[in-house]
Amino acid sequence: KNLTGSEIRQMFLDYFKSNGHMVEPGASLVPHNDPTLLWINSGVAALKKYFDGTIKPANNRITNAQKSIRTNDIENVGRTARHHTFFEMLGNFSIGDYFKREAITYAWTFLTSPEYIGFEKERMYVTVHPDDTEAYNIWVNEMGVDPSHICKTEHNFWQIGEGPCGPNTEMFYDRGEAYDPEHIGERLFFEDLDNDRYIEIWNVVFSQYDGKEGVDRKDYKELPQKNIDTGMGLERLACILQDGETNFDTDLFLPLIHATEKFTSIPYAENKMAYRVIADHIRTVTFALADGALFANEGRGYVLRRVLRRAVRFGRKLKIEGAFMYQLVPVVYEIMKDYYPYIGEKIEYIQKLVKAEEERFHATLADGERLMNEVIASTKDKVISGETAFKLYDTYGFPFELTVEMAQESGFEVDKDGFDKEMEKQRERARNSREALESMNSQSADLMNFTEASKFIGYEETICHAKVIA
Ligand code: ATP
Ligand code: MG
Ligand code: MG
Ligand code: MG
Repeated sequence: KNLTGSEIRQMFLDYFKSNGHMVEPGASLVPHNDPTLLWINSGVAALKKYFDGTIKPANNRITNAQKSIRTNDIENVGRTARHHTFFEMLGNFSIGDYFKREAITYAWTFLTSPEYIGFEKERMYVTVHPDDTEAYNIWVNEMGVDPSHICKTEHNFWQIGEGPCGPNTEMFYDRGEAYDPEHIGERLFFEDLDNDRYIEIWNVVFSQYDGKEGVDRKDYKELPQKNIDTGMGLERLACILQDGETNFDTDLFLPLIHATEKFTSIPYAENKMAYRVIADHIRTVTFALADGALFANEGRGYVLRRVLRRAVRFGRKLKIEGAFMYQLVPVVYEIMKDYYPYIGEKIEYIQKLVKAEEERFHATLADGERLMNEVIASTKDKVISGETAFKLYDTYGFPFELTVEMAQESGFEVDKDGFDKEMEKQRERARNSREALESMNSQSADLMNFTEASKFIGYEETICHAKVIA
């Protein structure tokens, strides 16, 4: 079956709607009232208000398509077939309504029924927690899954701190030996294989226990209200259905790749990684800016800066000169406009920010790379010093992680402790100049309103310095 990304998303939401779920609109990527979270990173993260009881939903059955950002996966992007920093998670949720049997049945029916996705059952594998005999029995006795396609693993338990937690079950799709030529004929424990043969597509979490610190898991009490939380990767489903080599070889990314090809004479086939990184990162940046994030030197904005700068560097590997990422923003919109029409109104705003950020980095990128190459050529112990990493950060705008990644490409490591020490020194300098500034501010207003600037050079310098750093 060949479905577009948009069609899969719609089919999913319609399917759960027809099974009594209310369709919840996707939430902003920037979490509201949740200081613990930098970005919304899953469907359930956006529905916390229902799960923790803050708000009672109009319907205990909910479905959504939730844009998600996971920058912890950034180094996987382009390297694996299946990871993005921005992706869409399709989910169904039960707030004290249905539980294991229905959740498994819904997922299995959606994936394997010819009316919906229609995957061959022989290609499907599932994982369950070893103690979760209830889920195991449902899979074997009710869904008819061959026990040889079920893997019991301790990994399948969801718990973050205290509170609601429980086992989960995950569904994988086997794309065949061609995607793992090294293990042909072996009996595989696919959950341990970090490759692109068995693609994890859907995670179903059974929230059934009340987790307590210092209590053995086996002794956790059952929750009076049991919840279901699930998440399926839209891009992974598109990849399998469209028979793409990777998620990037689908209608959700190819227009971005083709648009990028216009900026360079190096074709996609010659540097797939670079193209994929660029296509991934521009989606992240576009959606994050549309939801109100900004490039900055710390927190969320720093993460965003890192994402964009990483893509710009991959652009240079394709020998692209000058700012180009901003020209991909309308392409993101074209691909995503069915479900995210609001991006249309923000294209110009987003382009302006992206272009400015690209140009800011371009101003120092070449010099930074030159410094890096010199250091790599002249250093024997394969370690980039903390001072160099700090100079790249402070003078050339290279996020630390970017330096690490560049270093790794040449088999080098970076002295993280040394870098942290340099950062601490800089903070110290900033503190000192701030204190100097504050003591100045306490002088009388008359003295502050000087007219003869030359007398106050030291003061001016202090102000400038403090401004730059603060
Ligand atoms: P993986 O093991 O492949 O990294 P995960 O176990 O971290 O995935 P979950 O937290 O279980 O992922 O999220 C539910 C689903 O969301 C996954 O089964 C997958 O389909 C999708 N997903 C998770 N992370 C990503 C990502 N970085 N890019 C694209 N899809 C993802
Ligand atoms: Mg993961
Ligand atoms: Mg996983
Ligand atoms: Mg998972």
